Amino acid sequence: RAKAIGRDACCVYDEVLDVKNQDEMILESSLQFALQERQFEIAYQPIWEVRAQRIVGVEALVRWRHPVKGLIYPDSFIPLAERTGLIVELGQWVMETACREVAAWPAPIALSVNIAPPQLRRGEIVQELRDLLVNTQLPASRLKLEIAESQLSEDTPGMSATLSSLRDLGVGLTLDGFGTGSSSLVTLRSFPFADIKIDRRLTKEIAQDLRSRSLFEAILHVCRILKMDCIAEGVETKEQFALLQSFGCAYAQGFLIGKPEPAAAMRETLCRIAAGERPMAPVAPV
Ligand code: C2E
Ligand code: MG
Ligand code: MG
Repeated sequence: RAKAIGRDACCVYDEVLDVKNQDEMILESSLQFALQERQFEIAYQPIWEVRAQRIVGVEALVRWRHPVKGLIYPDSFIPLAERTGLIVELGQWVMETACREVAAWPAPIALSVNIAPPQLRRGEIVQELRDLLVNTQLPASRLKLEIAESQLSEDTPGMSATLSSLRDLGVGLTLDGFGTGSSSLVTLRSFPFADIKIDRRLTKEIAQDLRSRSLFEAILHVCRILKMDCIAEGVETKEQFALLQSFGCAYAQGFLIGKPEPAAAMRETLCRIAAGERPMAPVAPV
């Protein structure tokens, strides 16, 4: 009887796997189609300098405007794009579009773009970025590449050399999602990051939980010693903002300061700020 159940269970498992593979294949081909049809767009979320109280940058976040399903967020398609290699083409589109759009805005703010390891494994990336910066006239010092800590490991071959070449190009390197990978401190030692983003799961608890608060402060301390800048991600409440301000965290990003907005809306916001028609932040954090 146990054997029979085992066999049945095995069948069910196979069917589930098949359905999963089918779903994945369908998604993969529609992702490919979407790339040809240019169904992607970029939302920009402001990054706020805490002490100077102003927007100093934006993070480019890709969205898929599906003709039937509507707006699809990156967590639903980036992992598949990475598994299938489509991330290289998608990432190139994001990089080109974001550099072009931001270079045309009225304020000389920084642009942060998320990069997945398959993009960095291609030797051409350094030359391509150099050409793109020349073509869009975006100064290298205004571009920051965000690499997720969870996707880096010390022995990733060639990664350290590529990151050093990118840094030599003059672009900034940000360690994204700090505190969520398995090798935070080793990563800080091995790669030439200029700043780190503290993951929103850590920011979330600082107003309620003493241990989270201490951990957050300890990370800021490490950053200070290593002379790295720190960006707190996922700042949603005034309490969280007041705390990170009191800890001396230099930069903040989150719904309290501004949600990701389409390029035209973000540009409009920056135009109004430049003309003195509105405060520096879409929502004043304090
Ligand atoms: P991420 O780079 O850590 O980006 C921050 C994510 O947190 C964004 O989600 C943003 O909308 C969200 N967020 C910002 N502030 C808050 C807040 O106050 N509260 C909450 N709950 N969430 C907040 P999004 O746009 O869904 O992106 C998810 C992830 O997808 C990104 O995480 C990034 O890892 C990846 N991603 C997005 N665009 C790209 C891209 O062009 N290329 C690659 N490789 N990955 C991308
Ligand atoms: Mg990011
Ligand atoms: Mg992040």
